[in-house]
Amino acid sequence: MHKITADYIFTGNAEPIKNGIILIKNDGTIVDVINPKNSTINFDDVKKYEGVICPGFINTHCHLELSYLKNKITQKTTLPGFVKELVQKRNNFSEEERQIAINKAEQEMIKNGIVAVGDIANGNSTFQLKAKQNIYYHTFLEVFEIADELAKSAFNKVAELKATYFNNKQISIVPHAPYSVSKSLIKLIANQKDVLLSIHNQETESEKPFFKEKSGKLYEQMATFNPKVATWGNKKDGSLAHYLPYFKNTASLLLVHNTYTTKDDIAYAKQQNISIYWCFCPKANLYIENTLPDFTLFENENCTIGTDSLASNDTLSVLEELKVITENSNISLEKLIQWATYNGAKYLNINKQFGSIAKEKKPGINLLTNINLEELKLTQNTSVVKLY
Ligand SMILES: [Zn+2]
Repeated sequence: MHKITADYIFTGNAEPIKNGIILIKNDGTIVDVINPKNSTINFDDVKKYEGVICPGFINTHCHLELSYLKNKITQKTTLPGFVKELVQKRNNFSEEERQIAINKAEQEMIKNGIVAVGDIANGNSTFQLKAKQNIYYHTFLEVFEIADELAKSAFNKVAELKATYFNNKQISIVPHAPYSVSKSLIKLIANQKDVLLSIHNQETESEKPFFKEKSGKLYEQMATFNPKVATWGNKKDGSLAHYLPYFKNTASLLLVHNTYTTKDDIAYAKQQNISIYWCFCPKANLYIENTLPDFTLFENENCTIGTDSLASNDTLSVLEELKVITENSNISLEKLIQWATYNGAKYLNINKQFGSIAKEKKPGINLLTNINLEELKLTQNTSVVKLY
């Protein structure tokens, strides 16, 4: 057993403990967390680290399979521009190139202290690696289809892919985004009992006119993919009203990005009585849209952190995402760490093991160095080391 301490211990779901001590087994299982204020523990054999200790990070939104597109897509063209280029380039790479990139990306996440990932997939290229369980994965198989009459065949095709996955509890079929799934498809997805769902939400400004009046850049792009989108009715409440009311039986729903989400949207979402988590991927928002969500609106909501894919990010690091939020809001470090650890573990339903530093859990232990300890704030130079 080891005894470790740092300037502060952030347990994931409670106030930081100044000079707290963690008793931990070789395999990373927590034996105890001690507040020195309430203890007479002998410090002689305690290993002291400078900085902050927190649980392993939970990355709730990634697309590991797109790792081969690192540095390949032009920045700041907004979502329709990004999608257009992705569609053009995605067939220019061999299976071997894809596998090398996927493996490298996983190594990068491990090094950056990420212990669990909610990962979107459209194909099976990540399945083999995930079966090795170097990291905990929940896979979200994405489905999209605009034409109502093709909903069933689109869903069945993805269900066949799902059946080939190594663990049927750590995978679910999810809608890609409100603008790419018909009502019939939404109903089929919502029929899955007690599953974790995730959806790209309000990532681009033109999602609003798409639903309110069927116009704008996104609408025009979707109409070129499938003219049937013209048969969809307008929604005065916007994109949330297109799908949220159908997801009452979902265990938990992750809304990803929320770049253009307003106070009214949050109020509308809360009225639906669904267990909702709001996931932020700020670096991808800067890459694609060159803008950020209004984080302050979400200060009292259940929020999580995602890295999105290497197609829209230069790194897969939860810490780097937290730095962007720190620079662009007044959200406290305690809250940010809760978003990055405890909340993600709760959403993925893995909080028995992950997300907090508490007795008998094995959450992974990260050391954050170069922190501004007076203000308890991340700095540009903060870095992460995985201790356990
Ligand atoms: Zn995404």
